Amino acid sequence: MSIAFLDGTYLPLEEAKISPMDRGFLFGDGIYEVVPSYAGNMVGFAPHIARMQDGLAAVGINLDWSETDWAELCNRLINENGAGNLGIYLHVSRGADSRRFHGFPVNIAPTVFAFAFDIPPPPVADKARANSYRVSSARDLRWERCQIKSTALLGNVLHFQQGYENGHDETILFNANNELTEASACNAFIVKNGTVITPPLDNQLLAGITRHIVLDILRRDGSIAVEERVVTMDEVTSADEVWITSSSKEIAPVIEIDGVAVGDGKVGDVWLAAQALYSAGKFNY
Ligand code: PLP
Repeated sequence: MSIAFLDGTYLPLEEAKISPMDRGFLFGDGIYEVVPSYAGNMVGFAPHIARMQDGLAAVGINLDWSETDWAELCNRLINENGAGNLGIYLHVSRGADSRRFHGFPVNIAPTVFAFAFDIPPPPVADKARANSYRVSSARDLRWERCQIKSTALLGNVLHFQQGYENGHDETILFNANNELTEASACNAFIVKNGTVITPPLDNQLLAGITRHIVLDILRRDGSIAVEERVVTMDEVTSADEVWITSSSKEIAPVIEIDGVAVGDGKVGDVWLAAQALYSAGKFNY
Protein backbone atom coordinates (compact mmCIF):
# COMPACT_ATOMS: atom_id res chain seq x y z
CA MET A 1 0.00 0.00 0.00
CA SER A 2 1.50 3.33 -0.89
CA ILE A 3 1.67 6.18 1.58
CA ALA A 4 0.79 9.62 0.30
CA PHE A 5 0.82 13.14 1.73
CA LEU A 6 -2.18 15.48 1.65
CA ASP A 7 -2.27 18.86 3.38
CA GLY A 8 0.00 17.98 6.27
CA THR A 9 -1.06 14.35 6.78
CA TYR A 10 0.61 11.11 5.70
CA LEU A 11 -2.01 8.52 4.83
CA PRO A 12 -2.67 5.53 2.54
CA LEU A 13 -3.11 6.82 -1.03
CA GLU A 14 -6.59 5.28 -1.23
CA GLU A 15 -7.71 7.43 1.70
CA ALA A 16 -6.52 10.75 0.26
CA LYS A 17 -9.55 12.86 -0.69
CA ILE A 18 -9.89 16.42 -1.98
CA SER A 19 -12.88 18.69 -2.42
CA PRO A 20 -14.47 18.77 -5.90
CA MET A 21 -14.25 22.56 -5.48
CA ASP A 22 -10.46 22.34 -5.52
CA ARG A 23 -9.23 24.54 -8.36
CA GLY A 24 -6.77 21.85 -9.33
CA PHE A 25 -9.77 19.63 -10.08
CA LEU A 26 -12.00 22.33 -11.63
CA PHE A 27 -9.41 24.28 -13.67
CA GLY A 28 -6.16 22.33 -13.64
CA ASP A 29 -4.99 25.34 -11.62
CA GLY A 30 -1.79 23.96 -10.15
CA ILE A 31 1.87 23.12 -10.56
CA TYR A 32 3.53 19.73 -10.24
CA GLU A 33 6.87 17.96 -10.27
CA VAL A 34 8.14 14.40 -10.55
CA VAL A 35 11.48 13.70 -8.87
CA PRO A 36 13.10 10.31 -9.61
CA SER A 37 14.71 8.37 -6.77
CA TYR A 38 16.77 5.18 -6.93
CA ALA A 39 17.50 3.23 -3.74
CA GLY A 40 16.82 6.35 -1.72
CA ASN A 41 18.93 8.72 -3.84
CA MET A 42 17.08 11.45 -5.68
CA VAL A 43 18.25 12.81 -9.04
CA GLY A 44 18.03 16.57 -9.55
CA PHE A 45 16.18 17.32 -6.30
CA ALA A 46 17.32 20.97 -6.05
CA PRO A 47 16.59 21.91 -9.69
CA HIS A 48 13.22 20.13 -9.53
CA ILE A 49 12.24 22.15 -6.44
CA ALA A 50 13.59 25.37 -7.98
CA ARG A 51 11.48 24.76 -11.10
CA MET A 52 8.40 24.17 -8.96
CA GLN A 53 8.99 27.36 -6.96
CA ASP A 54 9.38 29.27 -10.26
CA GLY A 55 6.15 27.72 -11.57
CA LEU A 56 4.23 28.61 -8.41
CA ALA A 57 5.50 32.21 -8.63
CA ALA A 58 4.63 32.37 -12.35
CA VAL A 59 0.98 31.51 -11.68
CA GLY A 60 0.69 33.45 -8.41
CA ILE A 61 0.24 30.55 -6.00
CA ASN A 62 1.70 31.53 -2.63
CA LEU A 63 3.04 28.58 -0.72
CA ASP A 64 5.50 29.19 2.04
CA TRP A 65 7.58 26.01 1.72
CA SER A 66 11.37 25.98 1.69
CA GLU A 67 13.60 23.50 -0.14
CA THR A 68 14.14 21.86 3.29
CA ASP A 69 10.38 21.36 3.72
CA TRP A 70 10.22 19.64 0.32
CA ALA A 71 13.27 17.52 1.15
CA GLU A 72 11.63 16.34 4.37
CA LEU A 73 8.47 15.38 2.49
CA CYS A 74 10.35 13.55 -0.29
CA ASN A 75 12.56 11.65 2.15
CA ARG A 76 9.59 10.62 4.26
CA LEU A 77 7.77 9.31 1.16
CA ILE A 78 10.90 7.40 0.13
CA ASN A 79 11.17 5.86 3.62
CA GLU A 80 7.46 5.02 3.74
CA ASN A 81 7.37 3.51 0.26
CA GLY A 82 10.34 1.18 0.26
CA ALA A 83 13.18 3.16 -1.34
CA GLY A 84 13.11 1.22 -4.65
CA ASN A 85 12.87 2.93 -8.04
CA LEU A 86 10.39 5.68 -7.30
CA GLY A 87 8.90 8.73 -8.91
CA ILE A 88 8.00 11.28 -6.23
CA TYR A 89 4.98 13.22 -7.48
CA LEU A 90 4.57 16.69 -5.92
CA HIS A 91 1.45 18.74 -6.62
CA VAL A 92 0.33 22.16 -5.43
CA SER A 93 -3.05 23.50 -6.50
CA ARG A 94 -4.40 26.96 -5.74
CA GLY A 95 -6.78 25.32 -3.25
CA ALA A 96 -10.48 24.67 -2.71
CA ASP A 97 -12.86 27.61 -3.22
CA SER A 98 -16.50 27.96 -2.15
CA ARG A 99 -17.64 28.84 -5.68
CA ARG A 100 -16.55 28.19 -9.25
CA PHE A 101 -15.09 31.53 -10.29
CA HIS A 102 -12.15 32.06 -12.64
CA GLY A 103 -10.48 34.90 -10.71
CA PHE A 104 -8.01 34.00 -7.98
CA PRO A 105 -9.81 33.71 -4.63
CA VAL A 106 -8.27 35.42 -1.62
CA ASN A 107 -7.57 33.67 1.64
CA ILE A 108 -7.64 30.08 0.50
CA ALA A 109 -4.77 27.75 1.31
CA PRO A 110 -3.06 25.86 -1.52
CA THR A 111 -3.64 22.10 -1.57
CA VAL A 112 -0.39 20.13 -1.28
CA PHE A 113 -0.51 16.52 -2.43
CA ALA A 114 2.34 14.07 -2.95
CA PHE A 115 2.74 10.36 -3.50
CA ALA A 116 5.37 7.90 -4.66
CA PHE A 117 4.95 5.49 -7.55
CA ASP A 118 7.13 2.77 -9.02
CA ILE A 119 9.23 3.65 -12.04
CA PRO A 120 11.32 1.26 -14.14
CA PRO A 121 14.96 0.73 -13.21
CA PRO A 122 17.16 3.39 -14.82
CA PRO A 123 18.48 2.60 -18.30
CA VAL A 124 21.98 1.19 -18.51
CA ALA A 125 24.46 2.25 -21.17
CA ASP A 126 24.23 -0.96 -23.17
CA LYS A 127 22.82 -1.01 -26.70
CA ALA A 128 21.60 -4.59 -26.34
CA ARG A 129 19.53 -3.70 -23.27
CA ALA A 130 18.35 -0.26 -24.42
CA ASN A 131 14.64 0.46 -24.41
CA SER A 132 14.21 1.98 -27.88
CA TYR A 133 11.21 4.11 -28.81
CA ARG A 134 8.95 4.40 -31.83
CA VAL A 135 7.13 7.73 -31.92
CA SER A 136 4.57 9.68 -33.91
CA SER A 137 5.00 13.31 -34.92
CA ALA A 138 2.32 16.00 -34.79
CA ARG A 139 1.81 19.74 -34.95
CA ASP A 140 2.12 21.12 -31.42
CA LEU A 141 -1.36 22.36 -30.50
CA ARG A 142 -0.74 23.20 -26.83
CA TRP A 143 -0.73 26.67 -25.25
CA GLU A 144 2.02 29.28 -25.41
CA ARG A 145 3.23 28.81 -21.83
CA CYS A 146 4.73 25.36 -22.07
CA GLN A 147 7.62 26.44 -19.82
CA ILE A 148 5.19 26.23 -16.88
CA LYS A 149 4.84 22.72 -15.47
CA SER A 150 1.09 23.10 -15.05
CA THR A 151 -1.21 20.33 -13.90
CA ALA A 152 -3.48 21.40 -16.81
CA LEU A 153 -2.09 18.69 -19.08
CA LEU A 154 -4.99 18.02 -21.45
CA GLY A 155 -3.01 19.33 -24.45
CA ASN A 156 -0.14 16.98 -23.58
CA VAL A 157 -2.52 14.10 -22.87
CA LEU A 158 -4.22 14.47 -26.27
CA HIS A 159 -0.83 14.55 -28.02
CA PHE A 160 0.39 11.49 -26.11
CA GLN A 161 -2.80 9.67 -27.07
CA GLN A 162 -2.22 10.47 -30.76
CA GLY A 163 0.98 8.47 -30.66
CA TYR A 164 -0.42 5.82 -28.36
CA GLU A 165 -3.29 5.09 -30.75
CA ASN A 166 -0.68 4.55 -33.49
CA GLY A 167 0.98 1.94 -31.26
CA HIS A 168 3.77 4.41 -30.46
CA ASP A 169 5.43 5.36 -27.17
CA GLU A 170 5.43 9.15 -27.57
CA THR A 171 4.54 12.00 -29.93
CA ILE A 172 7.19 14.52 -30.90
CA LEU A 173 5.82 17.95 -31.64
CA PHE A 174 6.63 20.71 -34.11
CA ASN A 175 5.39 24.29 -34.31
CA ALA A 176 3.80 26.26 -37.16
CA ASN A 177 7.28 26.92 -38.63
CA ASN A 178 7.99 23.18 -38.76
CA GLU A 179 10.44 23.46 -35.88
CA LEU A 180 10.84 20.86 -33.15
CA THR A 181 9.47 21.89 -29.75
CA GLU A 182 9.52 18.78 -27.51
CA ALA A 183 7.41 15.64 -26.99
CA SER A 184 4.17 15.25 -25.04
CA ALA A 185 6.01 14.35 -21.81
CA CYS A 186 9.72 14.58 -22.76
CA ASN A 187 12.28 16.94 -24.23
CA ALA A 188 13.74 16.05 -27.62
CA PHE A 189 17.28 15.97 -29.01
CA ILE A 190 18.85 15.10 -32.36
CA VAL A 191 22.38 13.99 -33.16
CA LYS A 192 23.92 15.00 -36.48
CA ASN A 193 27.52 14.27 -37.47
CA GLY A 194 28.44 13.68 -33.84
CA THR A 195 26.88 16.92 -32.51
CA VAL A 196 24.04 16.77 -29.96
CA ILE A 197 21.43 19.43 -30.73
CA THR A 198 18.29 20.43 -28.82
CA PRO A 199 15.87 23.37 -29.15
CA PRO A 200 16.63 26.42 -26.96
CA LEU A 201 14.54 27.12 -23.86
CA ASP A 202 11.54 29.32 -24.51
CA ASN A 203 7.78 29.28 -24.00
CA GLN A 204 7.35 26.34 -26.40
CA LEU A 205 8.89 23.73 -24.13
CA LEU A 206 9.45 22.71 -20.56
CA ALA A 207 12.92 23.32 -19.14
CA GLY A 208 13.42 19.62 -18.44
CA ILE A 209 15.72 18.75 -15.55
CA THR A 210 17.01 15.73 -17.49
CA ARG A 211 17.67 18.03 -20.48
CA HIS A 212 19.63 20.33 -18.16
CA ILE A 213 21.65 17.48 -16.65
CA VAL A 214 22.40 15.95 -20.09
CA LEU A 215 23.64 19.28 -21.46
CA ASP A 216 25.70 20.04 -18.37
CA ILE A 217 27.29 16.59 -18.20
CA LEU A 218 28.14 16.63 -21.92
CA ARG A 219 29.63 20.13 -21.73
CA ARG A 220 31.74 19.28 -18.68
CA ASP A 221 32.98 16.10 -20.34
CA GLY A 222 33.76 17.98 -23.54
CA SER A 223 34.18 15.00 -25.87
CA ILE A 224 30.81 15.49 -27.63
CA ALA A 225 29.79 18.83 -29.18
CA VAL A 226 26.51 20.31 -27.94
CA GLU A 227 24.26 22.98 -29.47
CA GLU A 228 21.06 24.62 -28.23
CA ARG A 229 19.40 26.03 -31.32
CA VAL A 230 16.27 25.83 -33.46
CA VAL A 231 15.89 22.35 -35.00
CA THR A 232 13.69 21.94 -38.07
CA MET A 233 11.57 18.87 -38.62
CA ASP A 234 13.64 18.17 -41.77
CA GLU A 235 16.67 17.96 -39.50
CA VAL A 236 14.77 15.60 -37.21
CA THR A 237 13.85 13.24 -40.04
CA SER A 238 17.38 13.29 -41.45
CA ALA A 239 19.15 13.02 -38.07
CA ASP A 240 21.61 10.24 -37.28
CA GLU A 241 20.00 9.78 -33.87
CA VAL A 242 16.96 11.17 -32.06
CA TRP A 243 16.53 11.03 -28.28
CA ILE A 244 13.74 11.93 -25.89
CA THR A 245 14.57 12.72 -22.26
CA SER A 246 12.63 12.77 -19.02
CA SER A 247 13.19 12.08 -15.35
CA SER A 248 11.89 8.52 -15.53
CA LYS A 249 13.29 7.65 -18.98
CA GLU A 250 16.64 9.49 -18.67
CA ILE A 251 17.93 9.42 -22.28
CA ALA A 252 15.68 7.30 -24.50
CA PRO A 253 16.79 6.49 -28.06
CA VAL A 254 14.11 6.93 -30.75
CA ILE A 255 14.58 4.48 -33.61
CA GLU A 256 11.48 5.25 -35.68
CA ILE A 257 9.33 8.34 -36.37
CA ASP A 258 5.95 7.80 -38.07
CA GLY A 259 7.10 4.34 -39.14
CA VAL A 260 10.32 5.61 -40.79
CA ALA A 261 13.70 4.58 -39.36
CA VAL A 262 15.86 7.20 -37.67
CA GLY A 263 19.39 6.94 -39.16
CA ASP A 264 20.16 3.23 -39.56
CA GLY A 265 17.19 2.33 -37.33
CA LYS A 266 19.45 1.19 -34.50
CA VAL A 267 20.40 2.63 -31.13
CA GLY A 268 23.34 4.98 -31.78
CA ASP A 269 26.91 5.35 -30.54
CA VAL A 270 26.37 8.88 -29.29
CA TRP A 271 23.40 7.71 -27.20
CA LEU A 272 25.65 5.04 -25.70
CA ALA A 273 28.34 7.57 -24.76
CA ALA A 274 25.79 10.10 -23.42
CA GLN A 275 23.85 7.56 -21.35
CA ALA A 276 27.13 6.25 -19.87
CA LEU A 277 28.06 9.79 -18.80
CA TYR A 278 24.54 10.40 -17.49
CA SER A 279 24.51 7.17 -15.45
CA ALA A 280 27.89 8.04 -13.95
CA GLY A 281 27.07 11.68 -13.12
CA LYS A 282 23.35 11.99 -12.42
CA PHE A 283 23.55 11.73 -8.64
CA ASN A 284 25.70 14.88 -8.57
CA TYR A 285 22.60 16.91 -9.39
N1 PLP B 1 8.51 18.13 -21.42
C1 PLP B 1 7.31 17.83 -20.90
C2 PLP B 1 6.08 18.37 -21.56
C3 PLP B 1 7.20 17.02 -19.76
O1 PLP B 1 5.99 16.74 -19.24
C4 PLP B 1 8.38 16.50 -19.16
C5 PLP B 1 8.33 15.66 -17.98
O2 PLP B 1 7.30 15.38 -17.43
C6 PLP B 1 9.61 16.83 -19.75
C7 PLP B 1 9.64 17.65 -20.87
C8 PLP B 1 10.88 16.32 -19.15
O3 PLP B 1 11.15 16.99 -17.95
P1 PLP B 1 12.08 16.35 -16.83
O4 PLP B 1 13.37 16.00 -17.50
O5 PLP B 1 12.23 17.44 -15.84
O6 PLP B 1 11.38 15.16 -16.31
